[in-house]
Formats: sequence, C-alpha cells, structure tokens
Amino acid sequence: MEASPTHALLQRLDSIEKIFRTNLQLALALKNYIARKLEELRRREGRDFRLKIMDFCGTHEWTIVHFGIRSLMPSGVELVAGPGCPVCVTPSYYVEQAIKLSLEGVTVYTYGDTFKLPVINPVDGVSTLEEARARGGKVRLSLSLVDAMRDAKSSGRDSIFLGIGFETVAPGYAKAILAGMLPANLKILSLVKLTPPAMFYSLDILRDKPVDAPVMGVIAPGHVSTVTGAKAWAPVAEHFKIPVVVSGFEPIDVLSSIAEIMRQLASGEADVRIEYTRAVTWHGDLKAQAMMHKAFETVDDAWRGIGFIPLSGLRIREKYSGNDAQKYFGIPELAPARWKRDTPPGCRCAEVTLGKAKPTDCPMFMKKCTPEKPYGPCMVSIEGTCAVWARFGVGGLAQEIALDIE
Ligand code: SF4
Repeated sequence: MEASPTHALLQRLDSIEKIFRTNLQLALALKNYIARKLEELRRREGRDFRLKIMDFCGTHEWTIVHFGIRSLMPSGVELVAGPGCPVCVTPSYYVEQAIKLSLEGVTVYTYGDTFKLPVINPVDGVSTLEEARARGGKVRLSLSLVDAMRDAKSSGRDSIFLGIGFETVAPGYAKAILAGMLPANLKILSLVKLTPPAMFYSLDILRDKPVDAPVMGVIAPGHVSTVTGAKAWAPVAEHFKIPVVVSGFEPIDVLSSIAEIMRQLASGEADVRIEYTRAVTWHGDLKAQAMMHKAFETVDDAWRGIGFIPLSGLRIREKYSGNDAQKYFGIPELAPARWKRDTPPGCRCAEVTLGKAKPTDCPMFMKKCTPEKPYGPCMVSIEGTCAVWARFGVGGLAQEIALDIE
C-alpha cells in the first residue's frame, strides 16, 4: 500500500532528525577535523596555545552540555557560554516593581521561567513572583503575549505583561502594539534586550583581560538571527577579527559550526558564516525588523549583575505610550546612577554570563544554589548556564558518545 503524503513527510522528518541526532560517524569526522585544524593553526602560528569559542545562546549551551560536545573538543579548545539568557540578565529592579504591582492588585503576566527569579531587594519580604502569588498577589503564568491578551480582556483588570526576551520576541510585541491589538487594561513592560551589543561588551572585556585563553570564535544565536539576519554579527567579526558562525541547535549543527570556526582560524579568515541555513539569511526578516524599529526605540540598558550596555535595550516609543506599562504605572526607568550590583552576595552569575567563570567556579553551585531553590539568577531559567550545568552536568550521554567514537 502506498504511504500517504503525511506519512511520507513524517518518515522524512524522522530521518532528518536521525541525521542530526544520531550520526556518530559524522560527529567523529567533525571531532577529528576540529583537532586537525587546531594542529594546523598551531603550526601556522608556530606556537602551542589554547583558545576559547564562545556560544552566545542559552539553547546552544543546552545542546553543548546535554550532548557532551565539550568532551569532544581537543585539549586546547574550550567552549565558554556567553550572555544568552534573557531571564538571567533582567535587572532585579524591574522584577521588584512587578512584585510590588502584583501585591497592589495589578495582574502580572509572566513566562514560567521568571516565576522563581529571586530579587535582590525583597518587597515586603517577598523575593519572587512565585512568593507574591502565594501571598495573594495577582501573578499569572502565560505562554505568550497572546495568552495574556486573551486573559486580560476577559478579566478587565489592570494588567502588566513582563516583556522579557531578545530580538526573537520583539516583533510579536511590536505587531500587537502597532496593530492596536492590546486590550486597554493590558500594558507591556518592555525589557527586551539586544544581543550583538552584549556580545561586543563581553568580547571587549575578555580581550582586555583574557581568562586562561583568548576567545577566538563565536557561535552566534540561531533564533535571534532569523530576525536580525547574520549581518548583525558582521561588526563583531570585523572589530575583533574572529570568525562568527550562526548555528542551528542540533548537536551536529553546533559541531559543524565549531569546525567552520576552526577552519577559518587555521586559514587566517575572520568572516560571518551561516551554518543554520534552513532558517537564517544574511538580511533576516526585514518586515520584523521594520516593525521593531517602528514600535521601539533603542536605549542604553542595564544587564543584571553587569551594568549598562550601550544601545542594548528596547523601550516602547512615545507615540505608542498608551501601551507602555512604565508610563501607565509610573515605573521610573532604572538610571545608571541608581544601578547597583544586583546579584546576591557571592553569586558569580555576572562572570558566568560574561564567559569569565564557569558555574562550577561558584562555591554555591549545587549547594546553596540549585534549580529547585535558585540563589542566583543564572540558576532559574533552562537557558541559564548554571541551570543547564546543574540539570545535565557532565557524564551521561556525553561520555557515552565520546567513548563510542574514540
Ligand atoms: Fe549564581 Fe547560583 Fe550560578 Fe553561583 S551557581 S553563579 S549563586 S546562579
């Protein structure tokens, strides 16, 4: 009997999935290629040295840890995580404002991973939105802005949506604002952050004070680049003279991206390349970019634990201030003069976020700070480096694959 088109498609998707997930031969070939390129690079430079490759995105870090990609790297190539977790870098101040409003009866809509985010200055003894809800505060988990819009419309109560995220979420918020889709009682607190300025900032710091070895390549975020286009990373490659590869999220994607970075380094190139060609183009989604630009203005923005990064945040433009929670609820902008280090004492999240430390360098990792009871912001979201390391650690599938292909 002939397979139905749906069945044929499912079979095809299944085989694509297998190629990406379980192709050990390809993984082995890439592993060996990376090691060869390191040797070529060392010969070319005439010295034995170590290098780091930074992955920006929390989901790449998840892939790297979950599939044990670190254990496939030759001695001398280290993978370090960057600032790619929006929940980790959302300033404590804005979450404190949301807790305060929820306790005053305003409904706060938030994504699940912000629910347990601990603040630095508890509000009436309340440290998280989860605790605020337990105290009778109006906090609702929502999967998307559309969810919140639906719920707010039916409740009719004053409501606020915590707009946390990177360039991936901004077009959706922009569309709702521009099309006048938000119910009058729902306002957005735009906490959207832009990724290339943060990458620039981290690399600048690491270039001035390298820890152990220099960062000589970047695995750029795939989802963000579907919106911004790979072109957004050209200034990084140009300024720091290092290769940048926009990568997909399957283990073979990440290995291929590392291989391309090593190829470029060995041949003295420093270009932006797209590995994730099934989703990313050079120019990105021009319509989404235009909507973002129309609805938002770019501002210097605070990153939790780190401080202000120039032109790294989006705020709703004055023209659309009717949708702006800051204006409606009178939430003052966090000014540089008022910013104080907003990570708890001893937490090394800022260094982890900037690629200067590993979660295991923090004495509280898996002791005082666990996914069940996060002490610092990097332990909350599944995109947070500490949370990823805590959940998957090392060993397991990682070791199995490494041993299998040795
Ligand atoms: Fe901060 Fe916890 Fe990570 Fe330590 S383990 S750096 S306390 S988030």
